[in-house]
Amino acid sequence: MHFQEQVPLAPYTTFNIGGPARYFAEAASEEEILEAVHFARAYELPLFILGGGSNLLVADEGFPGLVLHVANKGIEQQADTFRVAAGEDWDHFVSHAVERSYAGIECLAGIPGTVGGTPVQNVGAYGQEVSETIAAVRVLDLKTLRFEDLSPKACGFAYRRSIFNGTERGRYLVTQVDYALSKDGTPRIAYADLKKHFISAGAESAAPSLDEVSTAVRSIRHQKGMLIVPNDPDCRSAGSFFKNPVISAAHYARIVAQQNAEVPHYPAPNGEVKLPAAWLLDQAGFHKGYTLGQAGISSRHTLALINKGQAKAADILALRDKIIAEVEAKFEIHLEPEPVWLGADSSEVSPQSLSS
Ligand SMILES: Cc1cc2nc3c(=O)[nH]c(=O)nc-3n(C[C@H](O)[C@H](O)[C@H](O)COP(=O)(O)OP(=O)(O)OC[C@H]3O[C@@H](n4cnc5c(N)ncnc54)[C@H](O)[C@@H]3O)c2cc1C
Repeated sequence: MHFQEQVPLAPYTTFNIGGPARYFAEAASEEEILEAVHFARAYELPLFILGGGSNLLVADEGFPGLVLHVANKGIEQQADTFRVAAGEDWDHFVSHAVERSYAGIECLAGIPGTVGGTPVQNVGAYGQEVSETIAAVRVLDLKTLRFEDLSPKACGFAYRRSIFNGTERGRYLVTQVDYALSKDGTPRIAYADLKKHFISAGAESAAPSLDEVSTAVRSIRHQKGMLIVPNDPDCRSAGSFFKNPVISAAHYARIVAQQNAEVPHYPAPNGEVKLPAAWLLDQAGFHKGYTLGQAGISSRHTLALINKGQAKAADILALRDKIIAEVEAKFEIHLEPEPVWLGADSSEVSPQSLSS
């Protein structure tokens, strides 16, 4: 296995931002993954697990440890379960399933990143979340250095959450995910944009196929700059930068009274209310195309912060902080960023997680 030094990380991220990794290695098998973890342990290096870099903002100073790029490949099918290596490209797997008439992930077409990245924030879009179809997650426990299979329940999935980015952050390296899909299942058309797409497409698409739904999702994502297309400046991003905040019903009522107008919202568990972060940004004056130095907001999607070409991580952080401060001042809501921060100060990555 080859351990490279001072490898620039920007090309490994969809933001195209970030300084070098002190050490960098690519692992194509579980044996290589283990070898890399032993290397980090031997040299007491903090370890960071890199997938497709599509939910990541890397510090300009880079990362002083080992970045392990998970690159194992393979899709095996047993009955209706697909066993997929963590390093497989997610969208490739979606196409693989749809081509074989398997339903369950068709609305998640066009999301960048790896299969191993999907359980981490319980990837979701257009009315589907991976937690609905994940049957098991195979992990390397970095505490015990043993491989084990976690049940969906053990993964603690919630909205953009799991144990992997929550209570057990930094403990597990995902090596493979089992997806249980439905042969000849009906595609899910629950989301307003998707419904609209098929209504305007006319009566002949009254019962769209899985393929038509995944194609429609990719097309809607493209219109919003949420599909990675080379040279499209609106997708030099990490997708939605802020999570949709969940607030109490009383807090929501205060906002409605303050606005004296309709406030878009969705029901959340326990009687709470989820607000669209994009609406909050708009109300606070952060519209599509907004620019702050080399950082900006996509011209097609309010929630996507973008690198306008030469942005440093510091530029994105300055825009992030300005948005958080102004939304907080106006609505008493503290927006939570969705992308992972990787720098010398990353709380995510602790050398301790490598010691038993
Ligand atoms: C244009 C665009 C659109 C997007 N749209 C959506 C969307 O609709 N819905 C959505 O949910 N997300 C979306 N995202 C965010 C992103 O694509 C997903 O979160 C994706 O699953 C991240 O996977 P990755 O392999 O790129 O992870 P990375 O960005 O490489 O890593 C993200 C986090 O996951 C961890 N990680 C990655 N691989 C592993 C592994 N094998 N084992 C353990 N930890 C791992 C990393 O350590 C890090 O903490 C979008 C991003 C972009 C750029």
